[in-house]
Amino acid sequence: MTATDRDLIPVVDYARASVDKAKDEHTVEDQQAANEKTAGRLGCRIVARFADNDKSAAKADVYRDDFEEMLKVLRKGKLSDGTPVMGCIVTADDRLVRRAGDYERFVDAITHEEGRVYADKRGFKDLYSEDVESMGLMGAVISRMEVKRTRRRVRNWHRARAERGLPPKAHRAFGWMADGTTIDQGEAALIRKAIDELISGRSQASIVREWQAKGVKTPRGYDWTTGTLRKMLLNPRLCGWRMIQGEIVEVDGKPVTGQWEPIISPERWQAVRAFYDARRGKIITRDGAVRPMAPDHREHSYLLTGVLRCGRILPDGSMCGKKLRVVNDRKTGVFRYYCQDKTQGGCGGLSRRGDKLEEFISEAVLAKLEERAKSARRDIGPWPRERELIELQEQLAELRAQWGKRKVSNALFFAEVERLEPEIAKLRAERERYELASQQSETDISDIRRRWYSETDDDRLDLGQKRAYVRGCFLAIIVHPAGKGNGSRTTFNPDLLELIWRED
Ligand SMILES: [Zn+2]
Repeated sequence: MTATDRDLIPVVDYARASVDKAKDEHTVEDQQAANEKTAGRLGCRIVARFADNDKSAAKADVYRDDFEEMLKVLRKGKLSDGTPVMGCIVTADDRLVRRAGDYERFVDAITHEEGRVYADKRGFKDLYSEDVESMGLMGAVISRMEVKRTRRRVRNWHRARAERGLPPKAHRAFGWMADGTTIDQGEAALIRKAIDELISGRSQASIVREWQAKGVKTPRGYDWTTGTLRKMLLNPRLCGWRMIQGEIVEVDGKPVTGQWEPIISPERWQAVRAFYDARRGKIITRDGAVRPMAPDHREHSYLLTGVLRCGRILPDGSMCGKKLRVVNDRKTGVFRYYCQDKTQGGCGGLSRRGDKLEEFISEAVLAKLEERAKSARRDIGPWPRERELIELQEQLAELRAQWGKRKVSNALFFAEVERLEPEIAKLRAERERYELASQQSETDISDIRRRWYSETDDDRLDLGQKRAYVRGCFLAIIVHPAGKGNGSRTTFNPDLLELIWRED
């Protein structure tokens, strides 16, 4: 595919070299070279570069000039000479952060308007997506920070367009030309054929293999996977309807018909949806047979699914990063976390024993909880409002004594009682809660350890609760491949795990 400069998305890039040598051997120049490659691969054009060198990071208030400058550019969507800027490229998320709040400000600036792109060396990440879980660090920030308002604003903008029947504006949709309204006959034919075949029993994986072999790519230039194929086919855009956040946009109870040419009829699309609905909770084998999903394959029946990611380096130098799935060998009783094969969107090149991984991560989580409990115990100290409560109680006692000696009128006494008693009651309740919390912080941890490993106690933690603790501790855990000398697939080496802790 050849593209003129005009077709390329104008972006800025950002690089940062930190003084933390252990973590960071990449100079600004290395990062910029990598960004250049990313831009080339993704159809972007770098129109301005920003870079900071944290030489003085030892000082508390190091000021990152270029970072701040870049935020201004992203917010405005143009350089000072008027050149449009539609996004930003970095080598990895962690380039963007030195202090708490940097991520948030970055996301806020870049999502200031819709249609912006953000990419690291692994590819585009959709900062407007609801599926923040798949976005690693940045997704965690988005879900944590309260830019719900930003995204709500964006969503409203999309909705306003949708209700006018305008095509969605982000990326070109597969099946249409770049204008979003004219059909691309070649791609449309592929879509119609895939739907026919799928409904008559061909498997998604087999269609995807065919598309991969033919060199058919997604509009963003990636190989199709069963996941992206499914998502594309389930989008009612195919029949001229709009969907936002999984719901068809309707006005007065009728789907809004778009201004673009539909590829299939609404009836056909509803058949596709019914087809996928019927498969929910089922497992589809490679030859297209549908079986009920085995309990072992139910989502979240393992401790670490969703957190473990593949750390294998792909031929293009980027990291695979896909979430690992579980396969259970019934003969040996050993289960493994593995990276799915290429038709499923993985690299198919990584597998690690599940029991050892879970044991190690469980200990890491418990150690973290112990550490937190210790610092909480130190912090908790005596209840800080004790003095206030005593003073109010003394006032009330004094008032009673005066009233008993008839030195205070009934009216004044009862008015004061009415004021003091609720305040005292409120403070007492607060003290009780405080003391309870302080006792809990001391007992909780040994209790959690017992409940974590217990298989019989009534109060043992179930998988969902343990998963919640794991997610509370880690943004992600990257499993790096065992190279030569690191042992075979059957041994376990914790050094090959990269734990990405959530900040406290
Ligand atoms: Zn992989």
